[in-house]
This record gives sequence, C-alpha cells and structure tokens, in this order.
Amino acid sequence: MATINLSRRNFLRGAGVTAAAVAAAGMLSGCGPQSAGDGSDAPATETSTTTYEPAETMDVDIVVVGGGASGVAATVQAAELGANTLLLEKNSKCGGNGQLTEGMFALNSQMQKDQGTSNDVTFRQIISAEQEFFNYRINALLWKDMVEASGDDIDWMASHGVKFSGVIDNYHGLGKFDCFHWFEDGKGSNYIDPMVASAESLGATVMTETSALDLIIDNGQVKGLYAEKADGSILQVNAKAVILCSGGYAQNEEIMLERGWDLTYSTNNGIEGHDGDGLRMAISAGANDVSRERCFLREAYSYGIDFFATMSQTIHRGGPVLWVNEDAERYTNENCGHFVPQCVGNAVHTQNASYQIMSQEIIDYFVQANDYPELTADLDEAAEACPGENFYKADTIAELAEKQGLDATTLQATVERYNELCDKGEDDDFDKESEFLIPVKTGPFYIMRQDMAFWTSIGGIDSNRKMEVITAKGEPIPGLYSAGTDCCNLYRETYTMSIPASCNANNCYSGRTAAKNAYETCVK
Ligand SMILES: Cc1cc2nc3c(=O)[nH]c(=O)nc-3n(C[C@H](O)[C@H](O)[C@H](O)COP(=O)(O)OP(=O)(O)OC[C@H]3O[C@@H](n4cnc5c(N)ncnc54)[C@H](O)[C@@H]3O)c2cc1C
Repeated sequence: MATINLSRRNFLRGAGVTAAAVAAAGMLSGCGPQSAGDGSDAPATETSTTTYEPAETMDVDIVVVGGGASGVAATVQAAELGANTLLLEKNSKCGGNGQLTEGMFALNSQMQKDQGTSNDVTFRQIISAEQEFFNYRINALLWKDMVEASGDDIDWMASHGVKFSGVIDNYHGLGKFDCFHWFEDGKGSNYIDPMVASAESLGATVMTETSALDLIIDNGQVKGLYAEKADGSILQVNAKAVILCSGGYAQNEEIMLERGWDLTYSTNNGIEGHDGDGLRMAISAGANDVSRERCFLREAYSYGIDFFATMSQTIHRGGPVLWVNEDAERYTNENCGHFVPQCVGNAVHTQNASYQIMSQEIIDYFVQANDYPELTADLDEAAEACPGENFYKADTIAELAEKQGLDATTLQATVERYNELCDKGEDDDFDKESEFLIPVKTGPFYIMRQDMAFWTSIGGIDSNRKMEVITAKGEPIPGLYSAGTDCCNLYRETYTMSIPASCNANNCYSGRTAAKNAYETCVK
C-alpha cells in the first residue's frame, strides 16, 4: 500500500492557507473560475505549495477519492450518467469501513413494500425524533432529502447487485424504528463488492493503492488532483470535478489531538486509511471546517483488554454500574446511553477522567442478564494484565481507590451514598431508573478507566444540499464535492442511532447526489 505520511506540518500547511483560500473563494457557484474575492481581478491564490513531477497524466470527467461506502455509490452513479469516471482508493482493496457496515436505513423500499411494512414509519416521526434531540440545530431538509430518497436508493443498490438478507428491524433494539435493512450475512462486502463490479462494468476506472495527495486548483476552481501510486510515482488527474469520499480523520493522531482527542489509550475499530486527507484537501481549497461541531461513532472501552468483543461493549454502555470521575465523585445517570448509545461517550467526556466500578452484585446482574458465566474470569484476567494502568481488582473500596490513584475517603463516601440510593430504590441524585440501582456492597470490586474507541469521525467538510463543498460564507467551491462521513451534516455532536443506519443511507444518498450534481454542473 502506498503510505502517505500526513505530517502535522502538512496538515497545518493546509489549515494555514485557509484564510487566504476562504478569502480567495469567489461568489460563483458551479464550475466557473473565481476571482480573488478582494475586489480585484487577480486570480485566486494557489493553495498547494508542493511541486509534483507527474510520471503520468489522466483526463477524466469526475474523480472520486475513496472507494468506501459513499465513494462506490458516487462512482456507480457518475458512470451510469455517462461520465468518464475514475475512482482512487489508497488501500489495496476498495471498501474502507463500508466493508464493516452491516446494513442501511430506508423508508419505503421495495423490500418493505413486499413485506407490507412500508407505511409503518413516517418521515414526520423520524424528523421530530432527530430535531428534538438536537435542539433544532440540524438542517431538517438534509434529513428530508435523504429519507425521501432512501427507498429508491436501496432499490437502486439492489439493481446493481447489492445483496440484502431481507430482514428489516431496529438493529438490536438500539434504533427507534424498524428500518434497518440488513446486508446478506450482515456483511458490508455484499454492498461494496457488487458496486465496484458494477462501476467497472459501466466503464469507470478503479485504481487501488493510489492515494490522492493534493488538489489542483486553478483560479479558484478545482481542476483535478495529484495522487501517489504504489510505486511512489505521481499521477496527475485532470478532472472537471473532484468528489471527496475519504471517510474522515479518526486515525490521524495529529488532527485528533488538535481537536482535543488524545488517542494514547484509544483504539480504532475501522479499516486503516482514515487519515483526514479529504478534510485537509478541502481546507486547502477554502472549505469551511466544521469538524469541531460534528461527531464520532465512538464507544467507551478498556484499553488493551481482550474481552471487548463479547461483554465489554455491554458493560461500558452503562446501566447497573457506578461511574465516578477523577475526584471519585459520581457525576451522571450511568444509564445515559439508553436513548442514544453514543450519549455514553458524551457523558464520559464531560469529565477529565471517568472510572467504572463493579461489585459482586453488579457482576451477578450482568452474568444473569447476558447469560455470560465467564465474566468473573474475564475480569480477573483483565485486572491481572492492567495494560494501561486502567483496570484493578480489590477486596475493599479503599484498596480500589488506592490502586487507581483516587481519593479513598471521597470514593468511600460516593459508594455509601450510591448504596443508600440503591437501598431506597430511588436515584435522588441523577434519576437513574430503579431497575439499574444495583449496590456496590460485596467484593471483590473492580475499577476500570473508561477509555475511548473512536470508530470513525462523522462530518467535518461543510457542504450544501447538492453536496457541493462550501466556504464559511456558504459559497460553493467550483468543481469540489464531498460525500459520506467526510461531509455528513445530518448530526451535530452526537451520532444518533434512533434512525438505525442513517449514516450508511447518507453515504449512498450523498454519493449519488454529489455525482448527479457534479455531472449536471461540471460535465454535461
Ligand atoms: C466498524 C464500523 C461499522 C459500521 N457499521 C455501520 C452500519 O452498519 N450502518 C451504518 O449506517 N453505519 C455504520 N458505520 C458508520 C459509517 O457508515 C461507515 O464508517 C462508512 O464506511 C462510511 O463511509 P465512507 O464512504 O464515508 O468511508 P469509508 O467507507 O471508510 O471509505 C473511505 C475510503 O477512502 C479511502 N481513502 C482515504 N483517504 C484516501 C486518499 N487520500 N486517496 C484515496 N483513497 C482514500 C479509505 O481507504 C477508505 O477506503 C460503521 C463504521 C464502522 C467503523
């Protein structure tokens, strides 16, 4: 695989030109050239300072960066419209995190019609759930566009060979509506592989092990890009439009740190390659960077502990456990993920550090509720390993506090108060449901720091309803489009699963929309 090292300097170089590039972005929509935006007729600032020596040049209509869930939809759509289309994928295989997805949201799909369930859910229910949750800070029209197209999108995917299992449900009870269309065998490869085959059969060129490096920007207009091939040679792609579908920046430590996310004890459950290339390139062209106001698919977990897959997710989603902060104080309803699971990450991040405490009573609860008798053995093994000074076992609360470096007197008082509430069956402090008030009385006790697994970033490049990349003033950057998690504007600071797999529905919808508008505006 061609590895592109996005150094901090490189990223900051992109960020550093933002002001100039934003100023440079003119008032024009579509693909016409821009002026410098300073009232003069001077050409817009060239944003890339790197000089490339291309070994090869290609001329295409549309180049798509990233062959994951959104990129394959954009490529098939563009090729279907008749555009000469090139898909670049930096990994040796297309798919990105799209390979790991299990299904997709849709309303009024042919599958639902065949099952007689197409009228069970309405857009009205969906949008009221989402707008209420986000305090009306989301653009309902983006949801409307995506939801109204979703049935057709799934039918379109099926017409391109995507395989669904036929099961439509609410995704393990996490969603509020039965709209999750499972891929066959729950495998995203049953989405990606047929779409790549379809793209190629429609005449698109798919190049793997080829990483987009920098946009070619001429007079304010995006006119293609430079890419690096597996052998290190540079490919120049001249294109009428570029669609960024690079899947976000969650694996780029520098970009994450710059946004306040220290990955030292973190993990990432995705496929490699999510280095923020799309965001960096968009910023270099003058795009509005909204990444700090957008969200992640993220889960609390225990750094370095292997039993993650089976029980850790359940345990870390809260419920009958006790959470305390760095001052050994309880700070929230631990069942805060009951409405939207991603609220767990939000709550944990309100503190400098968060620790989860379990007693024998709580372990018994989990064993019974999940039919998981191995839990004690798993916890003991984890405490033995304690790979990040993050997981301890003790016979008393005082010993637990000492091992984790918390104040023993405060922790003792916190536990006593919590047990009082459990005995009463009423959480007077944080209103946790009484069924989850399980006491912390009988040892052994366990404490685990709540580290964070960042699966993927969702959103960052600002875009409009046409999936045109826009400046801070809302002006489209000619020739530049984006789709998928690179530019998802459906959510704000929280990834809601109320509408299960809305993210993937948006990947397909935004990919298709970007391709249609790029074709209409720049190619036709
Ligand atoms: C483990 C996991 C499971 C998920 N499951 C679901 C689910 O079931 N339903 C749902 O709705 N959502 C799910 N999501 C969320 C989301 O839908 C996926 O992350 C989805 O893959 C996002 O699509 P994308 O096209 O934005 O990114 P990706 O599918 O990750 O594709 C991005 C691609 O761009 C490539 N790339 C990056 N930079 C460059 C470059 N410079 N040049 C060329 N190529 C580049 C990457 O290698 C990658 O292949 C899941 C996420 C994860 C991490």
